[in-house]
Parts: sequence; structure tokens; C-alpha cells
Amino acid sequence: MLRILNFINGEFLESCEISSSGLEVFEPATGSVYAILEDSSPRDVDLAVGAAREAFKTWKKTTLEERARVMREIASGIRKNSERLAAAESRDQGKPISLARSVDIPRAASNFDFFASAIEQSRDHSFHNEEGVFHYSKRKPVGVAGLISPWNLPLYLLTWKIAPAIACGNTVVAKCSELTPMTANILCEIIQKSSLPKGVVNLVHGSGLNVGRAICAHPEIPLISFTGSTQTALDIQKQAAVHFKKLSLELGGKNPTLIFEDCDYEQALNTAVRASFTNQGEICLCGSRLYVQSSIREKFVKDFVELAKIWKPGDPSREETKMGALVSKEHREKVLSYIEKARDLGGEIICGGKVPQFQSELDGGYFVEPTVITGLKNSCAVIQEEIFGPVVTIGSFDTEAQAIELANDSKYGLSASVWTTDLGRAQRVSQNLEAGMVWVNTWMKRDLRTPFGGVKASGVGREGGEYSLEFYTEEQNITLCWDPVLQ
Ligand code: NAD
Repeated sequence: MLRILNFINGEFLESCEISSSGLEVFEPATGSVYAILEDSSPRDVDLAVGAAREAFKTWKKTTLEERARVMREIASGIRKNSERLAAAESRDQGKPISLARSVDIPRAASNFDFFASAIEQSRDHSFHNEEGVFHYSKRKPVGVAGLISPWNLPLYLLTWKIAPAIACGNTVVAKCSELTPMTANILCEIIQKSSLPKGVVNLVHGSGLNVGRAICAHPEIPLISFTGSTQTALDIQKQAAVHFKKLSLELGGKNPTLIFEDCDYEQALNTAVRASFTNQGEICLCGSRLYVQSSIREKFVKDFVELAKIWKPGDPSREETKMGALVSKEHREKVLSYIEKARDLGGEIICGGKVPQFQSELDGGYFVEPTVITGLKNSCAVIQEEIFGPVVTIGSFDTEAQAIELANDSKYGLSASVWTTDLGRAQRVSQNLEAGMVWVNTWMKRDLRTPFGGVKASGVGREGGEYSLEFYTEEQNITLCWDPVLQ
């Protein structure tokens, strides 16, 4: 059985906590255990912080060119291993291999390339007011960055944190989700073979309570970037507050899709289905609450269900599969419990709602059919809480004001998408939505320079381009009087 070890100071190490036999890693498509993960403790985190602090002494002094060069080397290592990484991501997470190949792995490589270019292009500021004096500000690395990532886009999101952190001259103690450690492990192999100095990137495996908490509470980690659930973030904020840490929190969502009667119908329909079920609905940006203008609702619901049926769950390792397995047994139970709740509340399950049967080893896996629910009150738990699976609700509205009100009636505020061909309406609605990101007539188009992040319970802070460079540095201002005679 494959054993996945910690990566500390350039070496693969067992946890110093020998009492535990490790954590089992399951293959979501079959439910079988296929690897054992180190079940590390705060002592392992200490060891990693020690290595990262030592490496910081020299890494922070490297030139931008040198950092950019090593980062491009890592990007190239990811590309060379892309097929192996895609297969590992699909097996570990349950996502279709075609998605891992086309989105997760290419994006992980471009995260390194993007931030390599970003630091080469970045500028410091200087300010001039009176003769003989100038002020300049210099961005300095913060130190050891604590990076904690979730299971839905494992390598994509881990590298979205590691790349800007090391680009800015920080060193890293990272923790990926214990449910999906495989591609993080391969990344460490790639890093070990690269010319990145030992100790710049360290990865400690284990549970959130043992390892994640120890990272957040560690006095020598001044910055935490966390992507995960809103519930976990509450605990992280408490741990981090004691040390006044810099915090970036990218959290849950319950994103509305607003379909107006004047939309480009086919485009809206096709994209809304894709936004609902891509990655089994396990993307924080998935549109899980649809609201359709009453005049086209009946037709839209019928057409939506026809298309949803095409998203049949299947073996994630097969090229033609559009929808794979949910990440874990516990997560599937949570998703199914919301479908049950919808039934209890009088909702109508107009598509899916069941566990598919395959008459093969896939019956041990964690699949759920694409599910569409109508007839629920907006205030109910199924519409208000994040399900994070292939389950969407469809409601309706008559006016623009109602659409905005329904969309904003949520504790979350990550993203939204709006479908209309009326330019004025597109602007009015978008600007009135309580969401960090709004897509008009599209979904999930990304430019890595744009601010990424949510409002309300969906997060604190922004990442991406300059926003990341700002987060992963401390800007120091220095005022210089160069001609005392003029003072
Ligand atoms: P999670 O909060 O359960 O776990 C995320 C990470 O935190 C894991 O590595 C976990 O081990 C660790 N962790 C758990 N408890 C911890 C603690 N007390 N202290 C420190 N670390 C701890 O989230 P998840 O279930 O892995 O991921 C799904 C969630 O992530 C969803 O809510 C989804 O919306 C959100 N998400 C948000 C974004 C975004 O950019 N906003 C992107 C992807 C996923």
C-alpha cells in the first residue's frame, strides 16, 4: 500500500508521532482504500516551521529573476508530469479525468508561470512632495506562510497559494486536505528534483484538528491563507487572532444564477447546466440557486432537466465521463440528506435525487445523480445552506428588483451569474448583487490578475495578481531626506 509522507526540508519523512498507524485515503469511485497518509501532529508542524524559518534567511534575499526562474522550472515539471498528475487527481478526488486534464493540472502549472511573471513586472512606489525629501515603499516578504487548502480542486488551489507565497520571498508550511493528498505529494517530488532550495516549501499531512490548527496557532507563522468551509474559518480566525496574523479566507458559497427572459436562451441554458454540475457541483463557484423569470420558467425548467440527464455519473477515469464521484462517503451522506430534507419540505425532485447503480465495483463509490429541485421556499435550509454537490434548486421571479432580492437573500456572497442581453439591466443587477464576483452572460471565465474573493460569509480579502502580491508581503514605507539644507 502506498504511504504518503510529509515533505520537510527537502526530504520525505514519516511523522514523528509513531503511535498512529496513519489515515486511510479512499478512492471515491470505488470506496476502496488505496493509500495511507501520515497522521501528523503539532510536533511535525514545528519541525516544518524550523526548516521554513531557516530557508527564509536566504530565500528572501534571492533576486526576482532567480525566484522566477525556479518557479518556471516547477511549472515545467508539472507539465512534464501532467498525465500522471491528471490520473492521480481523478482517482483521488473522483473528478472526471477530462476535467483534471483540461482544467486542474494546466492551471496548477500556470499558477507558477503567472506569479513568476507577476513579480518580474511588479513595481514599488515612491512619493514626492517637497524638495529634498522622498518617500518610498518596499514590499518585503512576511516570513513563513501557513497555507491550508481543501479537497475540491486539490492541486489547483494548493499551487494558487504556494506560487505567490514563494514568488514574494516567503517560505511555506502547507497542508492539503487529508482526503486528497496525492497530487500534493507528486508536486513535492517535482519540487525535490527542482533547484528550489530545501525548506522553502514544506508539506505536513494530517487532520485539520491536529495539523491545520497547529499551523494557525503557531507563533512563528505570521500569515495564513485558507480556502475551505466557512465553519472551519471561524475556528481559524480565533487561533490566528491571538497572534494578529495576516489572514486570507476563501470560503463557501451558494451562488445565484439569474436568468432573464431577454437572455440568449441556448447559451444561458447550456452554461447554467455546466455551472451546476461541473466537478459534481463541488466548486465553490458553482451556481446552485437558479432563478428564472416567470415568463420563460416552464420551458427553461423542462429544457434544463433534459440537459441535466446527460450528466450521468460514471467512471471518472474514462475519457467520456462528464460527472464523477463525490469526494467521500460522509460528503455523499450530507448531500443526500439535503435531498431528503427537500422532500420533507414539500419540494419536488424533478430530476435525479438517487444513488445510481452500476452493477460493478463502482457501486462501492460515492455517486449521486444530477438533481434538480423546485417548489421550495427561499428561506429553507436547502436553498440557504451550501450543499456542495450535484444538487440545484430552481425558483422564479417577475421583476428585476425581485431577482436581486432573492439573490441577496443569503448569508453567502461569493459569486453570481446574470443572463440578459439588456446592457443597462446587466449593470444595474450586477452592481446591486452582494457578491465578490459577478459573471454576465458567462460563467467561471478567469483572468488571474482580477480580484478573487467573496463577501459576507464567503470570505475575507482578495487573491489574484497584485492582490496576492500585496497579501503575501508587508509594505514598508521609508522616508529619506536627501538634502538637509532644504529642510
Ligand atoms: P474544510 O474547511 O473542511 O477543510 C479545508 C482544509 O482545512 C482541509 O485541509 C482541512 O484539513 C483543514 N482544516 C479542517 N479543520 C481545521 C481547523 N480547525 N484548523 C485549520 N485547518 C483545518 O473544507 P473542505 O470540506 O475541504 O472544502 C470544501 C469547502 O471549501 C466548501 O465550503 C467550499 O465552498 C470551500 N471552497 C471555497 C473556495 C473559494 O475560493 N472561496 C474554493 C474551494 C472550496
